Amino acid sequence: MFDFHVHSNFSPDSEMKMEDAVNAAVEKGIKEMCFTDHIDYDYNGDGASLLFDYKEYFSTIKNLQEEFRHKISIKIGVEMGLQPHILNQCKEDVLNNKFDFVIGSIHSVEKSDLYLGSFFKEKDQRMAYATYFDELNYVIDHFDAYSVLGHLDIIKRYGDYDMPLPLEEFKESTGKIFKKIIEKGKGIELNTSGIRYNLGDYHPSLDIIKLYHELGGEIITLGSDAHTPQQVSFDLHNGLKSLKELGFKYVATFKEMNPIFHPIDK
Ligand SMILES: [Zn+2]
Ligand SMILES: [Zn+2]
Repeated sequence: MFDFHVHSNFSPDSEMKMEDAVNAAVEKGIKEMCFTDHIDYDYNGDGASLLFDYKEYFSTIKNLQEEFRHKISIKIGVEMGLQPHILNQCKEDVLNNKFDFVIGSIHSVEKSDLYLGSFFKEKDQRMAYATYFDELNYVIDHFDAYSVLGHLDIIKRYGDYDMPLPLEEFKESTGKIFKKIIEKGKGIELNTSGIRYNLGDYHPSLDIIKLYHELGGEIITLGSDAHTPQQVSFDLHNGLKSLKELGFKYVATFKEMNPIFHPIDK
């Protein structure tokens, strides 16, 4: 099993030591994992950023790679919070550091952190989704320095609406995004945190993943988005089973930004 979305205390929203994450992954039978800590420039429009020291990050992971080399393969990744006005900075960071894997995620729209909620003020649910997907569309038109798009329907997690909008309402914009990223050789992830957040489905929902598959999408990674040792590898076996049922033959991992395809049957 692979877990390609794991945070550590290099992210401000996690207290997990990297070593504890690795030990949890080994215990749970993970063969390969990737740390993907947060870099979010100007996440709420006031200049404040979530950053970590790249040098320290790389050296800590490299030590763990060496220490655990007989037990698990550890990759070096990052979760880049993407917004239209900071794409050059994100690109520079990816070019200047030898990541194995980059998750491109939207955490903020219209320079507002979705988690903090001001984005949703005076927007009905349709408007919120439409604005989110417009911005995602802009980002993928102007940025290529990533491997997969993170938790593609994150918009469903926030805003205090009664239930997520059905795919029919935003199928056109999602399909447009998929066609573009497939053509560019980019992928998506199945992120199991949606189950943890009691959303009753993954990020993105299985019907969205199905659409991706139908449009020819093949690159898909698995990630728990763990912020604690208990969350490492959470629900990945079910996630993998779902991918198989949808017709995926392979799940991807990444090394030096290149996808490696693993047959799901094995
Ligand atoms: Zn995220
Ligand atoms: Zn994450």
